[in-house]
Amino acid sequence: MIKYMKGKYKIVTFGCQMNVHESEKAAGLLEEMGYAPTESAEDADVVLFNTCCIRDTAEKRAFGNIGALKSLKRSRSGMLIIVLGCMTEQDGYTELFKSKYPFVDIVLGTRNLSVLRAKIEEKVRAGKRVFDTAVPENFLEADENTPVTRTSYPNAWLNIMYGCNNFCSYCIVPYVRGREVSRDIESILSEAREVVAAGYKEITLLGQNVNSYNGNGVNFAELLQKIDQIEGKFRIRFMTSHPKDFNEEIAAVMAASSKICNGIHLPVQAGSNAVLKSMNRRYTREKYLSLVDMMREKLGEGVGITTDIMVGFPGETDADFNDTMELVRTVRFSNAFTFIYSPRKGTPAASMPQIPYEVKRARIGELIKLQNAITKELSDAYMGKIEEILIEDLSAKYDGSVCGRTESGRLVTVKGEKDLIGSFKTVEITASKSASLFGEILL
Ligand code: SF4
Repeated sequence: MIKYMKGKYKIVTFGCQMNVHESEKAAGLLEEMGYAPTESAEDADVVLFNTCCIRDTAEKRAFGNIGALKSLKRSRSGMLIIVLGCMTEQDGYTELFKSKYPFVDIVLGTRNLSVLRAKIEEKVRAGKRVFDTAVPENFLEADENTPVTRTSYPNAWLNIMYGCNNFCSYCIVPYVRGREVSRDIESILSEAREVVAAGYKEITLLGQNVNSYNGNGVNFAELLQKIDQIEGKFRIRFMTSHPKDFNEEIAAVMAASSKICNGIHLPVQAGSNAVLKSMNRRYTREKYLSLVDMMREKLGEGVGITTDIMVGFPGETDADFNDTMELVRTVRFSNAFTFIYSPRKGTPAASMPQIPYEVKRARIGELIKLQNAITKELSDAYMGKIEEILIEDLSAKYDGSVCGRTESGRLVTVKGEKDLIGSFKTVEITASKSASLFGEILL
């Protein structure tokens, strides 16, 4: 091993849970090389940015953070700055890093994580900057052998597939993360058994569209069933689902299981059929509403349904937006992640006629107000209920408190200390404040 590789590393992650898990793999690789974690970039010998290009804001933040290291690098020339992730895979970005970010040492694509070690060694030996975003042929196989330093106890993230085939007209994912590939079912099951044996209390299955998992003919419902059969007390969650692929078979497996949580994140994006068509989502509002009815029938009224909604998509009229508002009133989501559409270069929607920002801003304001009112009403209805929660973390807001989630995904804050993290507790809900619930531990 190269002597230089004894030192500290810091990873800065942007974007979704997929990236959080990929950062856990990057951490595993760096630790295998002899690096130890640090919180401070000033202290670090390696700073790795795991980037995301799905939203313009995440990309701007990433560039801001990378740029902020320019002067530090000047004073510590031995420090390695690495940029990884889907941002680097966009057309012209390698050139951009070559010319505008000369202090960045290594640039790698999302699927090049397995070569991180080799690329660091190459940079240290030869001194030349390294750029590699070409997808390795053995990507899946190499990924299986990547060590993981998990950082999300009691939850363990678990990839079941990579990439996406859907080409929603606003989304850059299929262009930068490639087409769908499913992991081998035996590898997934063995990783699941491993994390349960290691004491993790929740497994979250990850993929851009988990419902279309296909591991040698095994579909997503069958995969869920097999993970459900692993012995032990733990929860199973999954994300993200796609309304065109979520079906009764999956809901039936969820209903029959005591481990699969009674909650689902099902992005609707818009409530207007014209907008959904233009987004290439391949379902209608009627289909979405029928899925919601089916889920409530199979999983009970208590099923937590959360969603993503985008406003201001090109061509969205007042009537289209009203359809979205109407759908939100009808479904009454537990929570909604709302976004203003922002064009991503290279996607079909970026070249459609755009609507003014003021219109988008006004619409998102209205939507947030509506969803907040619904969330508050749903929270108030929890008062006095008895729920089992899995304690996940210390409360960021309240001293001497910890927080956990109900099966349906609602966050509950209770009095307690760090030693409770990872335990299941039965609580009574005693107060609610918009999306937050507060409770007392009974057992
Ligand atoms: S399903 Fe659509 S929005 Fe989701 S990753 Fe695939 S292309 Fe993007």
